[in-house]
Amino acid sequence: MIAHSNFKTSYLAGKGHSPPNLPSMRRSSPPPTTVFTKEEATESPTMKRCRQAKSKAEPNTLGDIEDINFSKKEIPEIRSSLLKWYDENKRDLPWRRISKNGDNDGVSVEERERMAYAVWVSEVMLQQTRVQTVIDYYNRWMEKWPTIHHLAKADIEEVNELWAGLGYYRRARFLLEGAKMIVEDKTEFPKTVSSLRKVKGIGDYTAGAIASIAFNETVPVVDGNVIRVIARLKALSSNPKDSKTVKNFWKLAGRLVDPSRPGDFNQALMELGATVCTPLGPSCSTCPISHQCHALLLSTKDKSVQVTDYPMKVVKAKQRRDFSAVSVVEIVEGDVSQSDSRFLLIKRPDKGLLAGLWEFPSVLLEGETDLASRRETIDNFLKQSLGLDIRKSCKIVLREEVGEYVHVFSHIRLKMCIELLILNLKGGKKFMQRMQESATLTWKYVDGEALSSLGLTSGVRKVKLLLCRIATFLIFVLVDVPSKSLHLKITLHCFGKINLGF
Ligand code: SF4
Repeated sequence: MIAHSNFKTSYLAGKGHSPPNLPSMRRSSPPPTTVFTKEEATESPTMKRCRQAKSKAEPNTLGDIEDINFSKKEIPEIRSSLLKWYDENKRDLPWRRISKNGDNDGVSVEERERMAYAVWVSEVMLQQTRVQTVIDYYNRWMEKWPTIHHLAKADIEEVNELWAGLGYYRRARFLLEGAKMIVEDKTEFPKTVSSLRKVKGIGDYTAGAIASIAFNETVPVVDGNVIRVIARLKALSSNPKDSKTVKNFWKLAGRLVDPSRPGDFNQALMELGATVCTPLGPSCSTCPISHQCHALLLSTKDKSVQVTDYPMKVVKAKQRRDFSAVSVVEIVEGDVSQSDSRFLLIKRPDKGLLAGLWEFPSVLLEGETDLASRRETIDNFLKQSLGLDIRKSCKIVLREEVGEYVHVFSHIRLKMCIELLILNLKGGKKFMQRMQESATLTWKYVDGEALSSLGLTSGVRKVKLLLCRIATFLIFVLVDVPSKSLHLKITLHCFGKINLGF
């Protein structure tokens, strides 16, 4: 039953995509500047400007990031100022409420593991996602799976359902697989970066966060916020996306971590980047470490230099433009005036992006095509993948263009051309059974209520929203075509948008 068809089912199938290797795009995106690497053959105008500014303000010449370090005087100053500021200003976030409840020696193993699980879930959710969005998801998640043992018993469908709308669904799958791995091993929760890195889906960033916050290991955590703060502290304008540069930021952050409170120190540095040292509008006047900030010093001595020049702003890669045909296939059986409609959903392949998630039948197009070609493509897809020949096995009750919707991903701009296709199956339930047997993709058909409670991706939910909006409009436009108008009303009724009284 589950096999790949010849079609690329929807926008991302078959096209590689991995989230950026820095987890902190959630908190900000890095601003512009200059690159200082040994490989650099020529200087950009910005680089010259910064170099000139530096030479006016400070005798030291900025060199390769590997040559940069914090002095013996700076380190304790930064640690104490930052921790004091954090104690007074940290945001009240639900994952921070699982406190250590006393000093390190007084914390039970269970409490530490509970904390590790909370840090893990929250940090994974926060990757690519804003704090305000995450809070609700986190609370629902912890209510449903309060410990790693509860999560390990879950299945991927439930996890995807709860994750629906957060995006980057691979994160949810890895969380589940990681939990199962730890619980099935029947060993204790991994406590160090090296043991955490062996768990599926846990990278350097998450391992550092768990190990330092829950288990007090003196290790750094580097995300986009940390890179920005350190880049400004040391007036480093290196490319923050360059892997060699990122490694060096890890080294610099490692030198700063306070061994007495590593978890709090790491959170303080990230918190400062998220709330004070922001990408475009840093609040240097309220910054607890402004006295140690070289970028601020340079900017006060030379008005042509701004703290936001650090770190270098990386030009985003041009977004790919994709096009897809999406068909919301509604199947009615028997008397179409009855509210027995079901909607066809197709499961995406188990590997790749949005793996295992449900969507309306969709086909990635070669380019922007006309309506007739899109319909032909959808018809062929339904026939080849599901054995559903809409001309032979069905009566087409209604086929209406719904409109276009552009869904923007980090690197793709996907234009979806959406239609509503209402079919009355000639063979009824028996035919559906035959379809199940001959389909090369996994599919199901669900009623409107089930559709609303399913964990659908935000793309699918937006398609549904657009369909409801346009159908409401078309009911008035097609008032002279009562049969079409009635079918659209039935569709809206199924989606719970209007009440037809049956
Ligand atoms: S002084 Fe300004 S630029 Fe420097 S670390 Fe603080 S907020 Fe950031």
